[in-house]
Parts: sequence; structure tokens; C-alpha cells
Amino acid sequence: MFENVNLVVGAGISGAVIAANIAHKLDEKVLIIDKKNHCAGNCYDFKDKNGITIHKFGSHIFHTSDERVWQFLSRYAHFNTYMHRVFALIDGVETTIPFNFNTLYDVFPKTLAKKLEKKLLDNFAYNTKVPILDFQKSKDKDLNFLADYIYKKVFLNYTIKQWGLRPAEIDKNVTSRVPVMISCDNRYFQDKYQGIPVCGYTKMIENMLESPNIEVKTGANFNDFKNLKFKRIFYTASIDEFFDYQLGVLPYRSVSFKFEEYERPYYQKNSVVNYPDNYDFTRIHEYKYYLNENSAKTVIAKEYSSEFQLGQNERYYPIVNEKNTTLYNQYKYLAADLDNVWFLGRLGDYKYYDMDKAAARALECFDEVFNKKINITSERYVNKD
Ligand code: UDP
Repeated sequence: MFENVNLVVGAGISGAVIAANIAHKLDEKVLIIDKKNHCAGNCYDFKDKNGITIHKFGSHIFHTSDERVWQFLSRYAHFNTYMHRVFALIDGVETTIPFNFNTLYDVFPKTLAKKLEKKLLDNFAYNTKVPILDFQKSKDKDLNFLADYIYKKVFLNYTIKQWGLRPAEIDKNVTSRVPVMISCDNRYFQDKYQGIPVCGYTKMIENMLESPNIEVKTGANFNDFKNLKFKRIFYTASIDEFFDYQLGVLPYRSVSFKFEEYERPYYQKNSVVNYPDNYDFTRIHEYKYYLNENSAKTVIAKEYSSEFQLGQNERYYPIVNEKNTTLYNQYKYLAADLDNVWFLGRLGDYKYYDMDKAAARALECFDEVFNKKINITSERYVNKD
């Protein structure tokens, strides 16, 4: 009965992109299931009673330099031109991160800041980005002092809170996401396209899934579908779960949010304020900034990190290291024996994808599986509101 149906497991961004492509471009049937009781995975958002759009699983800011991804998602949502900035409390001073020349002048006396700025410009090309672990290798004693300062005040305790590990113990690409900026650029991302879908992420995903060819079942467990015969399976949940954890559980970090409502228009000066060196939470999100929503009240969320525990909390971040990659590769080896099953997404690929990278991977997966066989003739556009 499902022989002509494609099963997509997980209705987050990866699952929705592949499902939409199959349904709209190939005119094939898709059943998309998610164990959560809503679509959009961890991008899920909703409007609360105050009219504020809450990102239930933490702030999601879309950013990409990938034209194809931008064109694809823009069919399903209008994006505003929100450009993300992050403030951090460093020695009691609210300043900007990634650490840049503006941060330098915020946290140091002017004469010292000037001296360090000159040293930075003498040693690094303007407008480049230097990962903290590379910056620490500076031979110059002033730059070494600065690297040490940034390491201790911005990275060390935040990373311990976030990962339970020190910066040198995690994949270098993780701390490189927030490099030292040899410029005055206060933006968190430098991508060409940045913004928040005006209709919300949930609606954007629902728009992608709006098709007579797509059936969406939320609150549905893959185990209930496992023994049915589908044409193809696209699996965006965690690969170890697919194989019933027979080789062991893949480790992840989880996060949780403590939501608070305040009877005043704003709680803080920015959408996200990081607390690298204070408190147990890593950062505070204030949601109304994203869509510039007007309300007498405001809602914030304090973010806490913890180890992922099966059945207890959600998977958020794969912990990419040699040991875990070996385990993941062993699961991939098992997957190679399967016919017509593809793994993708942050959990399926066990990769720290941003939303655009997850979408790009799903588009590539679609190409890989189908494009060689078919001649795509039509693109389907849906109402974005
Ligand atoms: N990080 C840090 N201090 C900060 C911000 C980031 O040490 O104030 C490190 C930390 O290890 C974090 C990583 O940089 O996990 C990546 O940060 P990003 O903000 O990109 O993480 P995400 O928003 O994906 O949680």
C-alpha cells in the first residue's frame, strides 16, 4: 500500500526540503512523519498570547551565502532584513561579540586599545577572521596577552558550560564559528542573505509541505512504519536510532530553556546576550526583536546546556570528535547495505549544520537520488503568508 510512497522521517528543515522537492518537482507521493506533535523540528516557532513569536528551541537566525538555498526558501517565506548581533557581558561591560575592534575599545582603556589595535593590524590582514585557538599561537607578547584575555573572558567558561569541555577538547570548527574579527564588523554572520521569515519558521515549513502529494503525520513514531514497504526512505532523525542503537548511542549535547515573561516592553538591549563568565546559563534570548513585534510585555528564555540523555531530553548538537565520528561511520557502514534509504540532516549526518547547510544538503541529496533520472519541468510556488 506504500510501495509508491516516499517516507520522510523528521519534519524539520531537512525533511521538509526533500519532501517538497519530491512532491512538487517529481509529482510523487510523500508521507512525512515526526515524533514531535508539530512540524519544523527545532526551528519550531509560535505566536504567544502577547503576539510575540517564540522560537521554542532557541533563537534561529537564517543566514546564507548559498544562492540556491536562498532562492529555494524564498519561495515559501518572505524574510525580513534582520541582521544578527550578539552582545556579551565581559567584566561587567555589555559589548559586542565576535570580539572585534569595537569590543577592544569597550573593554580596555583607550591607550591600551589603540596599541592592541595597531598590533592586530600589523600582524593580520584587515577584515580577516582569526579562530581563537590560532590567535593564541601569536608570538608577540601584546597579542598573546589579548588572546589570553579573549580566551578566558569569552571562550573558556562559555565552552565549559555549553559542551562540558574546554575549547581545545572540542572540534576546532566549533569555536571557529565565533572568530576574532580584524575589523569593526559587529555582525554575528557575514553572509549575503540574513533574516527571519516574517510568517515564522513553522509556517514556512508548512508552506513547503502544502501539496496534495504530501501527507504529514505528527506525533508519529518511525517504529510504527519500520516494517512497511516504502518506495524510498529519507531519514533525518539520528542514525543510531534507525539501527536500534545496536552499536551504541551517539552522544549529543542538549539544551533547555527557562522562559520568563516581564511586564515591560524590553528586558535587554539586544535579541541575544551571552554570559560567557557569569551564571549557569550561556545566554538570554529576547524574542520580540526578531520580527520587531510590538507588545507591552516581553518574553525571554535563559539557555542551559546539558548532556543528551536518551528519552530524557532533546538532541541539539552532535559532539564531533574522533571517537564519535568512528561510531557514526560504523552506522554509515551498516547503512551502506540498505536499499533506497538515505540519511541527512544534523542528526542523520551527525554534523553541526546551520539551517542553510541542512537545506543545501537536502537539495544535494535530492539531486543525487533523482536528478540524473528525470527532467525537471516545473517549480511550484505557494502562498507565503
Ligand atoms: N562560544 C564561546 N563564547 C561565546 C560564544 C560562543 O565560547 O560567547 C563558543 C562555544 O564553544 C560555542 C561555539 O563558540 O559552542 C559556537 O557558538 P555559536 O554561537 O555559533 O553556537 P550556536 O548558536 O550554534 O549554539
